[in-house]
Amino acid sequence: MQIETIAVRGGHQEDPAFGAVAPSIHLSTTFARDSQGELVGPHTYTRSGNPNRSALEETVAALEGGDRGLAFASGMAAIHAVLQTLSPGDHVLAPDDIYHGSRDLIMDMARWGLQASFADLSNPEAFRAALQPNTRMIFVETPSNPMLQITDIAWVVRAAGEVGALVAVDNTWATPVLQRPLELGADLALHSSTKYFGGHSDVMGGMVVCRQEGSTAERLASLQHGAGAVPGPFDSWLIRRGLMTLPVRVRAQTDSAMHLAVFLHRHPAVARVHYPGLPGHPGYAVAREQMAGFGGMLSFELAGGETAAAAVLGKLQLFSRATSLGGVESLVEHRYKVEGPHGRTPKNLLRISVGLENPADLMEDLENALEP
Ligand code: PLP
Repeated sequence: MQIETIAVRGGHQEDPAFGAVAPSIHLSTTFARDSQGELVGPHTYTRSGNPNRSALEETVAALEGGDRGLAFASGMAAIHAVLQTLSPGDHVLAPDDIYHGSRDLIMDMARWGLQASFADLSNPEAFRAALQPNTRMIFVETPSNPMLQITDIAWVVRAAGEVGALVAVDNTWATPVLQRPLELGADLALHSSTKYFGGHSDVMGGMVVCRQEGSTAERLASLQHGAGAVPGPFDSWLIRRGLMTLPVRVRAQTDSAMHLAVFLHRHPAVARVHYPGLPGHPGYAVAREQMAGFGGMLSFELAGGETAAAAVLGKLQLFSRATSLGGVESLVEHRYKVEGPHGRTPKNLLRISVGLENPADLMEDLENALEP
């Protein structure tokens, strides 16, 4: 089945009681057994599994082309579980430019004996130099947050094979509509479902999809059940509903982002635009190869520095000034401020999540805000 069909039909079960077309929400925390003590259906207890969560997990696994999908309560809970598949003394290599929450979590896990280093994974030389004999996981985020650096997933997979490391790709920004890391050989695809999957800025969630069944998938399932950071039935239902429109939303957002990137690139008040769809972007060639579109996220730096960034932010009227991304409404944020004093983002940078408003209206808003 094609991705649009999976998004609508994946994990779908006919309702035998009423013939309801829309999936029902099963709030029950526990599931009955018959007089012989056998379970009536496939589920026992909602922390270990629930009909709404199963539908979500099956659909996302199919969208990513993996054997098993595991849903978590947030993107960070998913990332935490992935890191917990490692053992004390193992080394994880992650990109310099990465969601700051992931960076903080990886560093915090040093307390439990995890060794970590960060390198420019978009630069093969720097990447190779950072590999260690005990590297057991390469954590990739491409496009990266917030600088939209591009990492060549197939190249990382080959290098990881040489040291026997797993490759985990945070695919939140691209979504399986634009990029399928497991088909490029990665072992795990991760998501903050809070973003494009939910798509409406009203639900938190996370996902891990395993390319293959095996010990890592088993360990993740055991962490999901044992640590219990799972989404509830209603959250699972909301995310599953969001997935139905994922392909159309992401493609429309990608088209609009390309228009905005070109407009900003030509604007004299803008010093740099970070968008992999622009031919001058250092990751353009790799992105063209491994992505089916360049995505709905972009960031740009103001020629007038931090003061100009603050002024533009203040003048925008249509964009909501808020963190997060992937919803139907366009968002803008001063990333340095959001990341706090330890952030690495340039102070003159604004990050945009392009929504589903008409791109001409978004452009007009930006044009007005960029006026001196
Ligand atoms: N991964 C990426 C690339 C993100 O941008 C974010 C949040 O912004 C996360 C993970 C964390 O997801 P959540 O906020 O759902 O825990």
